[in-house]
Amino acid sequence: MSDSARGSIATDVVPAAPAAEIGQIREAVLARERFLITSHARPDGDSIGSQLAMAYALDHLGKQVRIVNADPPPEHYFALPGVDRIEIAPDVPPDITADAVIVMECSDLGRTGVRGMEGRYIINIDHHAGNRLYGAVNWFDESAAACGEMVFDVIGALGVPLTPEIATHIYLAILTDTGSFHHSNITPRTFDICRQTVEAGVNPATMARRVFDSNSFGKLKLIGALLDAMELVDDGRLAVLYLDDAMLDACGCTHNDTEGLINLPLTAREIQAVVFFRVSAEGTLRVSMRSKYDVDVRSVATMYGGGGHKNASGFTVTGPLARVRGEVIDRLMHAIAEGLQTRPPA
Ligand code: 5GP
Ligand code: MN
Repeated sequence: MSDSARGSIATDVVPAAPAAEIGQIREAVLARERFLITSHARPDGDSIGSQLAMAYALDHLGKQVRIVNADPPPEHYFALPGVDRIEIAPDVPPDITADAVIVMECSDLGRTGVRGMEGRYIINIDHHAGNRLYGAVNWFDESAAACGEMVFDVIGALGVPLTPEIATHIYLAILTDTGSFHHSNITPRTFDICRQTVEAGVNPATMARRVFDSNSFGKLKLIGALLDAMELVDDGRLAVLYLDDAMLDACGCTHNDTEGLINLPLTAREIQAVVFFRVSAEGTLRVSMRSKYDVDVRSVATMYGGGGHKNASGFTVTGPLARVRGEVIDRLMHAIAEGLQTRPPA
């Protein structure tokens, strides 16, 4: 094989992200000692993984690190390394004297749900469209399949090796934020990073069991109840799910058991999008949406002040379900019609 032919096949190193922002983050981190890391409320695998991978990298550099989140991690992540380091608080604890705050996965500071970050030196790392660039340093890359991909680059730029702990959290971030390698923003780079994490000690089978096969019996009952009550509209292209506290109680579940439920309807071939309405006792209505291919649910989320990604978005409104239900469904049917025009053949 000629060198040029070999080069075209064995492209082992996928190009790194743009140097400018990573270089700025590197300088900002190396010049500082005490860090606060945070991410969005109701954390998911990407927010947990991105924060902890970064925390372990900062440990490695001998920096002081605290992690503060508004809400606890989903229970099935408790066994992963370092998850017990995450402090839960509505405000930055007064004893934290960080000289930089690293905010992961938040298009604006309000998404953290933690008060007291304004006015601090902020390093903003995010892959959600519409990031408000609220940091002193901002790295926003909508093409990243997970924020964890970006953290991987930052850690590399800092010269920190991929330890088993860091690799575990980068893999967690990617595994969960790609919807276990279902979403449309996956690139060769995604797999290249995963390959490196596996070489560093991650066991994909163990991670998949831990993340996806750790349900309680109550959650299985809840799946039954939810799917039983599922409505299909738009000739079966849109699935509508509802959940309220009474259903949770009846199955012996908490909100912690609701993660991932929204993806279930997408396993039916015809279903192109899912909307999941969660009614809370306090009167807020949380709306999550998922889709396939080019069906853009983010376009609907932004109409209600929410956000996310093309295939996974959400928003929260106050007021009764009846007020927004029909309108959201109409808008989703429109998004489905638009997305189907560009859909690849089945
Ligand atoms: P989920 O439906 O799992 O809560 O969220 C799906 C995606 O949409 C995640 O990337 C999440 O960060 C984003 N998202 C959910 N709710 C909101 C919201 O109210 N505002 C913004 N900007 N993004 C949201
Ligand atoms: Mn993410």
